[in-house]
Amino acid sequence: MYDRKVALITGGSRGIGSEVAKELASKGIFAIIVYKTNRDAAQSVMDEIKTKGVSCDIVCMDVADEDSVQNTVKQVITSYGHIDILINCAGITSDSPLFMMKSQEWNRVIQINLIGTIIVTQVVLKYMIKNKSGRIINISSVGGVIGTIGQCNYAASKAGIIGFTKSLANEVSRYGITVNCIAPGFVDTDMVKQMPMKKREAVEHTIPLGRIAQTYEISKICSFLLSNDADYFTGQILFPDGGLTII
Ligand code: NAP
Repeated sequence: MYDRKVALITGGSRGIGSEVAKELASKGIFAIIVYKTNRDAAQSVMDEIKTKGVSCDIVCMDVADEDSVQNTVKQVITSYGHIDILINCAGITSDSPLFMMKSQEWNRVIQINLIGTIIVTQVVLKYMIKNKSGRIINISSVGGVIGTIGQCNYAASKAGIIGFTKSLANEVSRYGITVNCIAPGFVDTDMVKQMPMKKREAVEHTIPLGRIAQTYEISKICSFLLSNDADYFTGQILFPDGGLTII
């Protein structure tokens, strides 16, 4: 429909999201990298993309704050006219056993991971519906399907994203919009780097393929889901997890 597709990538400043932004830019997509606190990180993702001669942009937005999302999306539409792709990748952890977990830890994780995904999707969706096309990819986690200790809040948020993906996929298929979900196992980002080496080794022992994933192993799946080869995929959950969810 347009010369160049525009993608809004939450969590684009670091980790998996930054790799997704670079991958999409390498396919000629105009990547809009969303950051919340780390402007410098977002700027360096943009600089790296621009060294390859591809334009892109960065925007500050708090996915958990409806006003922030409304204002930022409006600003993106004013500047670029359309959003064709939404990658909901922003996410946090705040681990502790449930009996010790403070309500702020519960609320913050659910508010950013789950409610944030819903807020951003709802705001962007109206533009996709108007264009009768769009692709949405939500990033969940194996934590949403296997019970990881100390992550009741995170698991609930990521399980919610799976249900949200399936329901929304059904709702919006009539508008030419697909909604899919990637639920990775452990991926080598800041989120996992906090883990003590001993724990990391123990985790790697539990993974059938014996290692933690690299970020490109997730971004390549995004690329597939955005390609014409995935035209017939919607409401699907893909598990790049080295076999963690084999039953
Ligand atoms: P990361 O390196 O810790 O990066 C988190 C990203 O989320 C940052 O870009 C951060 O932006 C953004 N973010 C956090 N709170 C935000 C908010 N309120 N509004 C907007 N952006 C916000 O995380 P990651 O490991 O790449 O994880 C990315 C996604 O994959 C998450 O949803 C995570 O749950 C999921 N995941 C990760 C793993 C893993 O092992 N790493 C496994 C399964 C699923 P700023 O830095 O600018 O604040």
